[in-house]
Amino acid sequence: MDIREKHPGKLFVLSGPSGAGKGTICKKLLEETDKLELSVSMTTRNPRKGEEEGVSYFFTDKEAFEENIRRGNLLEYAEVYGNYYGTPKAPVIEKLESGIDVILEIDMQGALKVKENYPGGVFIFILPPSMAELRKRLTGRGTETAEAIELRLGETLKELSYIDKYDYCVVNGVLEEAVARVKAIVVAEHSKVAFTAEELIDSYREEI
Ligand code: 5GP
Repeated sequence: MDIREKHPGKLFVLSGPSGAGKGTICKKLLEETDKLELSVSMTTRNPRKGEEEGVSYFFTDKEAFEENIRRGNLLEYAEVYGNYYGTPKAPVIEKLESGIDVILEIDMQGALKVKENYPGGVFIFILPPSMAELRKRLTGRGTETAEAIELRLGETLKELSYIDKYDYCVVNGVLEEAVARVKAIVVAEHSKVAFTAEELIDSYREEI
């Protein structure tokens, strides 16, 4: 392949406080682009209505999950609200090595672990447009008590302090705009200089 077009697969990590809408952005992004593949996580939580094994998650029990941790099969894992969630390592590495971009939609603890193990990843922080809007979204889900929501909001403020570990931040006010920005990040990342001057000159020289 032409050196100017060549690129290894890139790992995009979409993360941010819960309720910021990273799941929604990710879903829409995958619908609108065929150039990215989602990493399917493993979890010990129960499947929700409509979720499919191997598509939404690989659903497993605690023992099997812990065995995967011991065997080093996970790129990262975290405990989120009492359940384990983790990224199976082998499929991610295989895709990246064959030039395919991979996207992870994971919580912030996990994202920070990926950063330690895979600093070449592109880390995107999804921000809620305001605390008032975040409160509205969390309340709208109807799954948590008022007290739990206050706790979450306090947690969000702490999570904001990790922003300097990220490469990009996208405010999720209008969904379409946020998705467009993430797409632009993917394009920008692939426009980075990924070859040496010598390789570039050689590739042009061949055309003379
Ligand atoms: P849910 O149970 O709503 O699908 O996900 C709960 C949280 O777990 C979300 O913040 C989601 O981003 C996060 N999550 C999903 N998969 C993974 C994963 O593989 N690793 C980590 N660290 N977090 C994950």
